[in-house]
Amino acid sequence: MPHVITQSCCSDGSCVFACPVNCIHPTPDEPGFATAEMLYIDPAACVDCGACVSACPVGAIAHHSQLTPEQQPFIELNAAYYPEREGKVPPTSKLAPVPDAPKVHPRPGGPLTVAIVGSGPAAMYAADELLTQRGVRVNVFERLPTPYGLVRAGVAPDHQSTKRVTRLFDKIADQRGFQLYLNVEVGTDLTHAELLAHHHAVLYAVGAPNDRRLDIDGMGLPGTGTATEFVAWYNGHPEFSRLPVDLGHERVVLIGNGNVALDVARILTTDPDTLARTDIADHALAALRASKVREVVIAARRGPADSAFTLPELIGLAASCEVVLDAADHELVAEDLAAATDPLTRNKLQILSKLGDAAAPATRPRIRLAYRLTPGRVVGARRADGVEFTVTGSDDEIRRLDAGLVLTSIGYRGKPVRDLPFDDAAAVVPNDGGRVVDPSTDTPVRGSYVAGWIKRGPTGFIGTNKSCAAQTVHNLVADYNDGLLVDPTDKPSALDKLVRRRCPDVVDAAGWRAIDAAEVGRGGDDRPRRKFTAVADMLAAAAEAPTPPLHERVLAGLRR
Ligand code: NAP
Repeated sequence: MPHVITQSCCSDGSCVFACPVNCIHPTPDEPGFATAEMLYIDPAACVDCGACVSACPVGAIAHHSQLTPEQQPFIELNAAYYPEREGKVPPTSKLAPVPDAPKVHPRPGGPLTVAIVGSGPAAMYAADELLTQRGVRVNVFERLPTPYGLVRAGVAPDHQSTKRVTRLFDKIADQRGFQLYLNVEVGTDLTHAELLAHHHAVLYAVGAPNDRRLDIDGMGLPGTGTATEFVAWYNGHPEFSRLPVDLGHERVVLIGNGNVALDVARILTTDPDTLARTDIADHALAALRASKVREVVIAARRGPADSAFTLPELIGLAASCEVVLDAADHELVAEDLAAATDPLTRNKLQILSKLGDAAAPATRPRIRLAYRLTPGRVVGARRADGVEFTVTGSDDEIRRLDAGLVLTSIGYRGKPVRDLPFDDAAAVVPNDGGRVVDPSTDTPVRGSYVAGWIKRGPTGFIGTNKSCAAQTVHNLVADYNDGLLVDPTDKPSALDKLVRRRCPDVVDAAGWRAIDAAEVGRGGDDRPRRKFTAVADMLAAAAEAPTPPLHERVLAGLRR
């Protein structure tokens, strides 16, 4: 019997290339990979070797006999991706085609050196792709004293398995040729031109740090906010640890029904004793323990068939929380189910149709999914008291939901990168396969590249960034080989001096290891870690990093 891919699938495709019989699809070169909600193992072709288990960076794959009751639906979900066949499919003995690593043509005068700005998944996958070549140097710059971007500050604390990808990132950061500069802000502490003077290329993987704003009356009142800020708050991002979050009312309304809304609703309704075993920020745990919230309504402007959340996340939500629909929304689900032909949509609707009824008395804080509600205005005088919606498709039918906290969850948004062009409508840096393009001349901006959400917009999963970053790196290396990238004018050691002069509190890999160890130690036996949420505390922990012996420092200096 086969192995099964479960909820935390990151879609980076590592399992695809490890599988000896090519039974995991869609593969990165197949149509549908970019939009797939997860990858699926063909149960009729799986030879049960377990190679995919070792390759998966987030522990999302298990033998079918080892699944928890909550994971059981994934057996059928994996199988449903493939057509029904009689018996076992013979092994193809063919590995999925591994994309060629970019071949750097060595030049006299020094190795290819690349500055990567940001340290989230796109940055780390780009570094990994570059470091497949011997001699390449990568310097990663991150404005916080801690690395890994949204894996630390975005992934929900009750999704610890997803956070396991940081072990892969730690391995990438340990490679020869990789240098980490944390607590350094490019655009403020160092300019783009300065980075270009020390590198052949600068690759921005800065994500989409802002949120899309909903322009309706009443947003901005106390008791309103955005889900992205709330996520940063419960994850202990130092810039959001003082966010005023009032959980003293019975209902929260979330506007938008993507996976972020599901994360927020789960955190608001999960037993705090369960969250106390995660790495949730202490201030958030304390607020949740005192919370009076009994219901979180996730309000979508379209119907059930157009739900933005993914099927694996819905399965996980239904298995761990009390999720209900009111009678009118159950009817909408039934109507959509009768009309739906696409298997993925049908699967979602079938799960929705089995959810409980909102009329039943609630025994614990619960989540209500609500449909066809277009937000009109937030009501309230000095603070939010609720939201008025119009029923989508009718001009005058108004529905009001009382709520003490109203959070929009309508997506992230990229922000301009200093010294690079910006496409304000798409909120990305204009690019062609990761090469930054000046829209006024339609020509590439020399030495400038992008990967991740700032390149393609805020969609996809952690592993989607692997193929996205690989595409950028391949183009960067092609430009280097074609002589389009100018050799750095300054020596590598000059960069180190410049950074340390501008940023005396720069944190290096040893400093991050010290922060990491201190946080894990503070977690004790019950928690994976207790995060520092103030930069000063992070820096104090980094300062405890042991000084390497003299010979190692000399070697590191020589390598630089
Ligand atoms: P999202 O998936 O793009 O969902 C945005 C939601 O906002 C949709 O329901 C959308 O409705 C709604 N919306 C947009 N504009 C609106 C408006 N003016 N009024 C009312 N509703 C509006 O965004 P997200 O939830 O922030 O997620 C971002 C990305 O991160 C996604 O790719 C997501 O899958 C990923 N993510 C993944 C995980 C995970 O795998 N565990 C967790 C978190 C995030 P319409 O559909 O009608 O436009």
